[in-house]
Amino acid sequence: MNNKHVIVIGAGFAGLTAARELQTAGIEYHLVEARDRIGGRAWTDDRLGRPLELGATWVHWHQPHIWAEITRYKQDIVASPVVDRAYWLADGELKSGTEAEMDAKLARPMEKIFEGSREFFPEPHKPLLVLDEDFGASQELKDAFLAADAASVLDPLEDGDFTQEEKDLCNAYWSAGYIGNPATGSSLMAKQWAALCDHRLSLVDEQTLRYKLVNGMRGIYNNIARDLTGEIRLNTQVAKIEHHADSVTVTYANGTSETADAVIVTVPVGALSHIEFSPALPEGSQKTIEKKWNSTGFKAWIKIKGHHNIFGYAPQPNVVSVLRSEYFEDDDTTICVAFGADHTKIDLTSVEDAQKAIDQWRPDLEVVGVTGHDWVADDYSGQAWATLRQCQFTDGWHHFREPSTALHFAGADWANGWRGVVVDGAIETGISTAREVIDKLRAAGSNADLTQVA
Ligand SMILES: Cc1cc2nc3c(=O)[nH]c(=O)nc-3n(C[C@H](O)[C@H](O)[C@H](O)COP(=O)(O)OP(=O)(O)OC[C@H]3O[C@@H](n4cnc5c(N)ncnc54)[C@H](O)[C@@H]3O)c2cc1C
Repeated sequence: MNNKHVIVIGAGFAGLTAARELQTAGIEYHLVEARDRIGGRAWTDDRLGRPLELGATWVHWHQPHIWAEITRYKQDIVASPVVDRAYWLADGELKSGTEAEMDAKLARPMEKIFEGSREFFPEPHKPLLVLDEDFGASQELKDAFLAADAASVLDPLEDGDFTQEEKDLCNAYWSAGYIGNPATGSSLMAKQWAALCDHRLSLVDEQTLRYKLVNGMRGIYNNIARDLTGEIRLNTQVAKIEHHADSVTVTYANGTSETADAVIVTVPVGALSHIEFSPALPEGSQKTIEKKWNSTGFKAWIKIKGHHNIFGYAPQPNVVSVLRSEYFEDDDTTICVAFGADHTKIDLTSVEDAQKAIDQWRPDLEVVGVTGHDWVADDYSGQAWATLRQCQFTDGWHHFREPSTALHFAGADWANGWRGVVVDGAIETGISTAREVIDKLRAAGSNADLTQVA
């Protein structure tokens, strides 16, 4: 391999797994990370008196890449509680029932939202397959696919006899699921999630919000880092990347620079505007960086007095869209997880703000603590999990997957399968992008290497 060297930018799941893949192939690398910690948008930290996930939390055995890591590092999962009482604000009223009753109300409109998932995603890990000329889809299907990308996730409900209660429940669900305004999020994303979940709402819920890691995400990202022999440089922010056919020069915020045979950038779209690329990225990528994704929301942990096993749903413009009890503490408190579409509407350190959110469902409950991390305001993420605006499914993420120089992108934002929303997609691209780089460097290396591949 003639000592080819790759710089991996970002020590989240994509960067860590890309580095491990390079290491396995015998390629030299080092990782650079702007923060003072690894993990990126996965961050298990001690808050409110216990370990809490400020970013990624839930995992599932139907997510193949994260499940392989769970197996590799012998991690265990635990189910989130099944709640006793659900509350939902709908049609201007506060309603209440069991979780099953609330789920039953979501079933009919969600079926409409998922409509087309089988035809649009015959192979869910090849998201643009129906547009591929070789696949041979009818023009009618291609047109319907493009139209679904131009539509918002809630638009399908405008076409039918859906009640305001059904619309409000879906509005709350997708404000949290899309971690942004559902009125501007592409409807194709929900349909692809359905395809990844056997077209069933119950499996979407199971895959995204049911099973947590006993040791937290740090039980996995720390283990991957332990397996790496290459250097991980923390507090090292990249400011500029000059890229050519066979080499790259990376310049850091402190003014130093270094050259390598290739670079793998795992920085999410929301933070890419802080890096100068020379030559400039293709127009499609630039447009995406400028617009960013639909991801403007937040996740918060809210601690309330007493043990209360509850679930809450509230549509826009309420600040918190979804709330669920997660931990019942020994000091007779409950820690709930909360999601909302707009990070500017809440101060994640303000008990008063959290109390206002709880009051919309249960004014009798007293908030005693709140925490979270504002990922949208964070310069190294600029977004929560990646969710696509209208038209970005067919004109957005894939521009970053077409390398023409020694500059390559990996990261959950650009995954084929579970794009953005879960760690699984970050690992998928860590592996696939590293393999692209390995193949390219091998092809540029000795004949002996090529013979080995053949
Ligand atoms: C609030 C929230 C909740 C989530 N919940 C779940 C969940 O329940 N389950 C799940 O599986 N996933 C969840 N996710 C999604 C998951 O966290 C991400 O998909 C995944 O962690 C992304 O990994 P990544 O490596 O692609 O990107 P990142 O983790 O963002 O890694 C990119 C790295 O690049 C670094 N970086 C940025 N700019 C620079 C620079 N200029 N120079 C050097 N380094 C730089 C960053 O600091 C970061 O460490 C959640 C995400 C958020 C935000």
